[in-house]
Amino acid sequence: MHYGIERIGATVIPAGSGNTERHLMMMQDFGTTAVVGTPSYALYLAEVGERNGVEFSKLPLRVGLFGGEPCGEHMRAEIERRLHIRATDNYGLTEIIGPGVAGECECRCGLHINEDHFLAEIVDPETGETLPEGVEGELVLTSLTKEAFPVLRFRTHDLTALDLAPCACGRTSARMRKVRHRTDDMLIVRGVNVYPSQVEDVLLKIEGIEPHYQIVVDREHGMDRMEVRVEVAEEIFSDVMADMVAFTGNVSDRLNGVLGLSVKVTLVEPGTVERTAGKAKRVMDNRSLE
Ligand SMILES: [Zn+2]
Repeated sequence: MHYGIERIGATVIPAGSGNTERHLMMMQDFGTTAVVGTPSYALYLAEVGERNGVEFSKLPLRVGLFGGEPCGEHMRAEIERRLHIRATDNYGLTEIIGPGVAGECECRCGLHINEDHFLAEIVDPETGETLPEGVEGELVLTSLTKEAFPVLRFRTHDLTALDLAPCACGRTSARMRKVRHRTDDMLIVRGVNVYPSQVEDVLLKIEGIEPHYQIVVDREHGMDRMEVRVEVAEEIFSDVMADMVAFTGNVSDRLNGVLGLSVKVTLVEPGTVERTAGKAKRVMDNRSLE
């Protein structure tokens, strides 16, 4: 990513993770126009900036290249609104090259795969059989130009589908659908398949809920129990107990409706769900510790 950005003539400021105040200071001092990182860190950047009186609308910042974890459309909209940028989704993995396998163009209708460097296939995760265009399955990658450490038919565990039609932007490379699920981030709770992204979709549509949440799965007396800890806006915390109970009930009803599973919802105060500089840890599955 670093050398690719330099190749197009841009200046790179390698900031690393952590020390968010310093990031904000550098962004202001250097007049940064683009930011690269995980989407959850972008939100954290917005939060710290807002707290420190940074007016993002007045900064030269205009675009964000995000990746490393799933980012739904609601989360994307939130990042764009708060940082005043246009956010794109990018895909890569350490075993292949890191960032740079695929990325969205200005049309944002799938991630263009850099096919001159990577051969992408979609296979059935159960049988390993190659699937046709448009059918969702597991992404398998082969590096074509990588030296010293080539990778042949690497199974990514990421679920997506390919679109081979030329894009409206004029590029003709294959596009892969945004990765929302992995073959292995799926939770099975009381026999029901649950993807963390389904929980996120429900939560971020509800007014007053912040884009920070945590899913906790436990086993009590042989029975799975799923709890969703949700960070809510200050004004949701009310002196009227009945209002809080109604709000919690509404969130849990909506989750039940989508997941087909009863979920305990706990409201937590703004800023209490742990923030990380890297990938957000959304799921705590305590069952495996038993
Ligand atoms: Zn395009």
